[in-house]
Amino acid sequence: MTARLLDGKALAADLRAEVAVRVATLTYRPGLAVVLVGDDPASAVYVRSKDRAAQQAGLSAQTIRLPAGTPQAELLALVARLNADAAVDGILVQLPLPAHIDSRTVLEALDPAKDVDGFHPVNVGLLAEGTALLAPCTPRGVMKLLAASGVALSGARALVLGRSSIVGRPVANLLLAANATVTIAHSRTRDLVAECRRADVLVAAVGRPEMVTGDWIADGAVVIDVGINRLPDGRLVGDCDTESCAVRAASITPVPGGVGPMTIACLLENTVMAAEERRKEAVLS
Ligand code: NDP
Repeated sequence: MTARLLDGKALAADLRAEVAVRVATLTYRPGLAVVLVGDDPASAVYVRSKDRAAQQAGLSAQTIRLPAGTPQAELLALVARLNADAAVDGILVQLPLPAHIDSRTVLEALDPAKDVDGFHPVNVGLLAEGTALLAPCTPRGVMKLLAASGVALSGARALVLGRSSIVGRPVANLLLAANATVTIAHSRTRDLVAECRRADVLVAAVGRPEMVTGDWIADGAVVIDVGINRLPDGRLVGDCDTESCAVRAASITPVPGGVGPMTIACLLENTVMAAEERRKEAVLS
């Protein structure tokens, strides 16, 4: 078998176009505020891409850049202002924050209704319960790629490799909500290869270059590779060895061009969903 490549770039372009059409039908422009503290180069690149994508989709996007030495109290005051600003539907505080700021305190200060990253404990809880409106963007991208693969998730054996709060755990909860039978594997898992070989769906989010090889994959499995790892020679690779996995898998995401592009597209969609929900509630109250 040679796996079908799941083209995240094309799927993300479709989703962004869909969001733009949805925005064009609204009588207001959903507002997204992205907060960047400090000068981490990777974060600066992400924030620029988010801003550009939001503008292109017709959102009203603003990026607020604060110096690295910004006191936590000042950041919290900004979050409070954005929470209270009726024109702002979504707030994203780019992580990681400088070491003197406690990320958890900042995330907890966000209005959960505007938490388009889905990291506020209220949204984490709703996701665990299976009722979240705003789920984290990369995990939502994973689910959309799975939908595009055509795999029937109900009853499928899904293995999530990694248990971080930004990828592994939320992916596992979304899969559970889709009625998959979910196993979460991590660094203490025994017989990891055997666990992987049983999976109809394997989502790899470990941050270890090409750790998952073809002999870990069940024939006909769908493999979603969330990993983004830069090798010493500059190449970007995932957590799966795409070439050998593709020999066994039915479908697999490439790196780059798989999960990565979906994250920003899902952020735009989350912002529109947050706007529609908040403004519906504003009309009702
Ligand atoms: P974390 O480092 O937070 O989590 C890694 C997880 O993998 C942990 O649960 C860890 O287990 C587990 N793990 C590490 N080594 C092993 C091992 N040898 N065997 C089994 N499990 C192991 O990473 P993230 O979840 O933040 O990110 C994972 C990958 O996804 C990274 O490559 C990252 O760059 C990428 N990523 C991509 C995004 C995108 O948009 N495409 C967005 C976010 C992340 P334990 O908990 O026991 O330590």
